[in-house]
Amino acid sequence: MKKTVSFSPDASNVFFHILTACNLKCRHCYINPKEHGTESLALSTIESWLAIFAGQSKKANIIFLGGEPTLHPDLPKAVKTARNEGYSSITIDTNGFLFNDILSKLTPGDVDFFSFSLDGATRHINDMIRGGGVYDKCIESVKKAVSEGYSTSLIYTVSGNNLHELHLMGPLLENLGINRFFIQVIGLRGKSSKAGKKNLQVSKSEWTDIVPKAAEEISKRGITVTYPKVYLEKNEKFECAAIVAKNYFIFPNGRVYRCPLCEDFPIHSMEIRDNRLHRHILLP
Ligand code: SF4
Repeated sequence: MKKTVSFSPDASNVFFHILTACNLKCRHCYINPKEHGTESLALSTIESWLAIFAGQSKKANIIFLGGEPTLHPDLPKAVKTARNEGYSSITIDTNGFLFNDILSKLTPGDVDFFSFSLDGATRHINDMIRGGGVYDKCIESVKKAVSEGYSTSLIYTVSGNNLHELHLMGPLLENLGINRFFIQVIGLRGKSSKAGKKNLQVSKSEWTDIVPKAAEEISKRGITVTYPKVYLEKNEKFECAAIVAKNYFIFPNGRVYRCPLCEDFPIHSMEIRDNRLHRHILLP
């Protein structure tokens, strides 16, 4: 079975933002150019950074993202380099626009998953969050990827705006032939931090009443569903994801965060710098 990002304690995931530019302006976008930079990395830099993180952990899953990573013309070459570096799995996160004819420049053997983002089961809700015309484009691209033999996953970021449509996702995912479904919780960072908690954050009862049940129903269709715990019971221990798992969130300005909660702030765990021989080094 093909692998992709994994959120278990022993997993290692490298979330590589190769650029921050995007064709969309989603309401909840977490990209913060002040903290993440605005560069589009050169292929030579991408390859050098891939080598650094392959060396940190040989079993890491790599996830190419942005911005919209398919806007980067060298993404196919970067994917092939990641394979040669021995990454355990390769995923491309996309908003569905699939620029630069990416499907025809790769094969299902090159990339383990194309992961699409959709934030509503209906055109109305998705496009209210992600922009007009995005629902239709994303569905069309999923169909194309599936018909060309690629494995696909879909990310649904739950907020107060779309929680009520989560239970409608099962038939849509099954009809499209999507293999894995990731339910995420909205993070109050980037644009969402400015919008505030109102209408975005879901309460403990809303989350626990709806999400696990919807996930179970969807999984009965043979789709692997992953969702975060979000709310702990009183006797449950808090375990920081940045400590129990090896996650690296790399941004084009060279900052490496271990925890997404910090991404709106200058505080970060590591930094990639150019040394005198123009080889990149990773500094704690
Ligand atoms: S597709 Fe992703 S990067 Fe682009 S605006 Fe939406 S959330 Fe931000």
